[in-house]
Amino acid sequence: MYSWHDPEDRVSILEMNAELRHAELELLSAHCATYQLRLRFSTDDLARFGQRDVLRKSVEAANSLREFYNSIEKKIQQADGAPETAVRLSEERVLEAVSLVCAYLREQRERYLPSGVALTRDLKAAMWPYFSPALLDEVRIVQLNGERVPYPSFYAEARALGFANLPEIAHMSSLTFLDVLVFNEKLIERSLFHALVHAVQFQVLGLERYSELFVRSFVNTKLHFTVPLEAHAFSLESKFFQPAAERFSVEQQVRLWAEQGRYAATSLAAHR
Ligand SMILES: [Zn+2]
Repeated sequence: MYSWHDPEDRVSILEMNAELRHAELELLSAHCATYQLRLRFSTDDLARFGQRDVLRKSVEAANSLREFYNSIEKKIQQADGAPETAVRLSEERVLEAVSLVCAYLREQRERYLPSGVALTRDLKAAMWPYFSPALLDEVRIVQLNGERVPYPSFYAEARALGFANLPEIAHMSSLTFLDVLVFNEKLIERSLFHALVHAVQFQVLGLERYSELFVRSFVNTKLHFTVPLEAHAFSLESKFFQPAAERFSVEQQVRLWAEQGRYAATSLAAHR
């Protein structure tokens, strides 16, 4: 077993953690893809019509991952003593988090707005069937070219309040701060579409409501991409990306979800 006191071991431990981090990101992406699949198709249909070999390989991979991580979980519990108990967040803390998120989004909008540029004519043309011309004229784009949006200063505080698994801002391809769309990675049509869906959500719901829905569903689901605001953006994005995608109005879809209370949904069942 490694020892933190041995300099050579220390290097190996650092390498191990880098690889663990890599595996974690890959797992999150697998989790996200599976979540999208669950939103669209029932397990009955998957079992009946899914390609057999693909299903078998997926089940096998998921089972062996589960076995491996379970065995580690047992060891963590032995090493740390008591099993980890989930921190229950009081209403007061949730409201505190809502106001932190709200202030953060507003600040970032002000920060990036001066360097924002309008959408090019080509990009507007690619997006117009889905978004209103007014929105496409209004949004501002910032491409960071190698830089990344920094983690919010309140993350340490949020962790202390009991929030775990905070969104990995630096690993997201884009972030939407109301009408300012900031790209960590190169702007492609698909990520632009995703960022624009959030801009519509901000317009329809307003900053306060958006922040509150985000925080409350994050508290319930514990994972960024299972927050309905996010899940909706992912599913509309994948609809847009289908070959020969049908045209639809994102604003209409967002209004529908808002009216039906689907952004406040706390479980998968509520999506059906
Ligand atoms: Zn998103």
